Amino acid sequence: MEYETCHMKILNFGSLNIDHVYHIEHFVQPGETIACSSYNRFSGGKGLNQSIALARAGADVYHGGKIGADGLFLKEQLEKSGVDTRFVHQGNTPTGHAVIQVSKEGENSIIIAGGANRCITTDEIADTVCTFAKGDYLLVQNEISGVDHIISKSSEMGLKIVFNPAPFTPAISNYPLELVDIFILNETEAAAITGLTHQQDIIEQMRKQFPNAEVIFTMGAKGALFVKGDIEHIAPAKQVTAVDTTGAGDTFIGFFLASHMCSGNIPEALAIATAAAAMSVTRHGAADSIPTLDEAKAFSN
Ligand code: ATP
Repeated sequence: MEYETCHMKILNFGSLNIDHVYHIEHFVQPGETIACSSYNRFSGGKGLNQSIALARAGADVYHGGKIGADGLFLKEQLEKSGVDTRFVHQGNTPTGHAVIQVSKEGENSIIIAGGANRCITTDEIADTVCTFAKGDYLLVQNEISGVDHIISKSSEMGLKIVFNPAPFTPAISNYPLELVDIFILNETEAAAITGLTHQQDIIEQMRKQFPNAEVIFTMGAKGALFVKGDIEHIAPAKQVTAVDTTGAGDTFIGFFLASHMCSGNIPEALAIATAAAAMSVTRHGAADSIPTLDEAKAFSN
């Protein structure tokens, strides 16, 4: 797997968030005010995590998205990780953020404010997408506004469309999903998108509804399953002791696509993605837990 010989680009149009994490005795109750025992600020958003995973996996990745003046450090972090940020726009709305309470039992409760992520204009989408050429990849999740427009515009330009329908919202059923070439989704998203509960029914439904698409189901500690028409590949998860599974899906997506873009060899892409994602669950954090390509290669052998 030599990515150095790969000339394809990937545009990841995705969320950029500031995560405010508060460690507290218990979740705040109605009418209650409590002091936290510690506070930390982290970079976040599925978009940011997936761009960093793509860059660590060796892909030529461009991030499309939007921040306010308070989010410049996110752009700097992407740049330091090797992501091209020329399509990260800056507007007047504050950067998207999450308020995360973490209880002493380790459970969390989260409020998300979309902020600038939800103010991406059709002109910004068109100007960004038009810079890419037939055969380049477009990756998009569901944490920003204009996803339907991003998919149609990218399809018009001949880009290969990859959709990670996370988090699932009912609006997804109105997106032009027939234009999607690759779906990557977890068990909750797969159930929500099909309206079904049994795994085999979900697989059959996705096959029937999207006969030409590649569908990758991620299944946590059970690994991942690739389906395209009659072709199936199963990738068991690597056995590890998980300490924090945040960002496992984002790591999987970045490593799977970086490999897919350059070799097109599905078992190889699944192997490096499951190795990288397993490594990420042995470490704390989201972006911080994503391994380098060398680490993931060593672990997958
Ligand atoms: P998250 O939202 O936490 O980022 P997700 O729900 O999108 O994750 P999962 O299906 O939970 O995605 O995990 C993605 C991949 O990560 C799995 O297919 C698997 O390869 C790997 N993985 C997740 N949890 C574990 C685990 N406990 N042990 C080993 N590998 C794991």
